[in-house]
Amino acid sequence: MQLMAVSISGKMTDSLPKLVAHTARALIGAISDPVMLCAGNGTVTATNKAMLVFLQKTGATESAKIDGMSIFDVFPTNEEQLNKIISLCKSQSGIFPATLQMPDTANSSDQDRIPLQASMLQLNGNRPSHVLLRFLTLNSVSKHRFEELNATLRNKNKQLLIEREMARKDAHTGVWQRATLFEELPRYIQTSKDQSTPTSFVVIDLDDFKEINDRYGHPCGDLVLSSVGGLLLKACRSKDKVARIGGEEFAMILPNTSISEAQRACQRIRHNIKETIINYDDQIISITASFGVTEIADGDDSEDVYKRADYALYSAKKAGRDKVVSVAAALDDINIDADDGLSND
Ligand code: GH3
Ligand code: MG
Ligand code: MG
Repeated sequence: MQLMAVSISGKMTDSLPKLVAHTARALIGAISDPVMLCAGNGTVTATNKAMLVFLQKTGATESAKIDGMSIFDVFPTNEEQLNKIISLCKSQSGIFPATLQMPDTANSSDQDRIPLQASMLQLNGNRPSHVLLRFLTLNSVSKHRFEELNATLRNKNKQLLIEREMARKDAHTGVWQRATLFEELPRYIQTSKDQSTPTSFVVIDLDDFKEINDRYGHPCGDLVLSSVGGLLLKACRSKDKVARIGGEEFAMILPNTSISEAQRACQRIRHNIKETIINYDDQIISITASFGVTEIADGDDSEDVYKRADYALYSAKKAGRDKVVSVAAALDDINIDADDGLSND
C-alpha cells in the first residue's frame, strides 16, 4: 500500500516519495506503542500493528484498514481535541501530551481517557506535513489508570476519614459525642497507666439551664450550648478532649494533667463561661457552669472515673453551683469554696 501525504493545510499532496513512505512505515512499525501518522486534514496515512491491536481491543474500530480513514471517524467524540492537537503540532515543534476519549466510553468520566503524545513531522520537505500520535503503551495506560484509581481512592479515604470524624462529633456543638468519649476513655486510662503520667477527667454541667430555655426559648438554649461547646474547645489544648455527654453536660479528658493542674484549668474555664455574654435576639444572656474533677487512678475503668467526677459535680451543685470541686474535697465534705486552696471566684 502506498503511504499518502496530505499537507498540513489540508490539501492533498503528491504521494510521499516511495523511500520516505517506506522509511516512515518501517520506523513506526518498530515502535511497540500504538502509533498513528495522519495528515493535516486528519486523514490517517499510516498505523503500526500495535495501533491496530489497540483500536480493536479498545473497541474503537473493528476495521483492520485504518489508513485512509479520517481520524475524526476513528475517534468520533474527539473532534475539538483533535483539531487542537493538529493545530498545535502545525504551529509549534515539540511533543505535546493529550488525551482522547475512546468511542465505547463516550458517556464515561475523564478516567476513561487515553493518554497520548503528539508531535509534528516534516516528511515532505522542511514544512510541517504530518502529525504523529503515539498512544501510551497498554502498560503505560494501565499505569496511568492505576495512578488515577489510586488518587481517587486516596480522596475517597480522606473523605471517609472526615465523615467518620464528623460522625463521632456532636453536630450541634462540634465536640465529641458521648459514645465517642466512652469509646476513647479506656485508651487514655491505659496510656496514663503505661506512661505513669497523670490524666484528669472533668464533668461539667451548665447551671439552671432549664431556666434559659423557659425564659428565652429552646433555640436560645441551643445557641448557649453551641457557644459553650466552642468555648471549651478553644480553652483546651489540642491533646485535651471535649465531649457533650448529655443535654447540657460536657466532659473533658486532660492528658498529662494532675488534679491540681486540672482544677486550675477548670477555674479558668469557669471564669470564661461566666464572663461570656451571649447575644440572642438582642437579649444578653449569661450562664455559669459547675465542674467535678478527678484524676485517673490505678485500677480505674471508665465507669469508675466517670462516677467519681459526677459525684464531685453533684457536690459542686450542692454547694451552690458555679464551682469547681475535686473528688477529694467532695469526699471530705470540706469547705468547697476553699477547694484545695483554689478560689472559685
Ligand atoms: P442544674 O443547675 O441543677 O443542672 O439545673 P438545670 O436546669 O441545668 O438542669 P435540669 O436537668 O433541670 O435541666 C436541663 C435542661 O436542659 C432541660 C432540658 O430541656 C435542657 N436541654 C437538654 N438538651 C437540650 C438541647 O439540646 N437544647 C436545649 N435548648 N435544651 C436542652
Ligand atoms: Mg444536667
Ligand atoms: Mg444543668
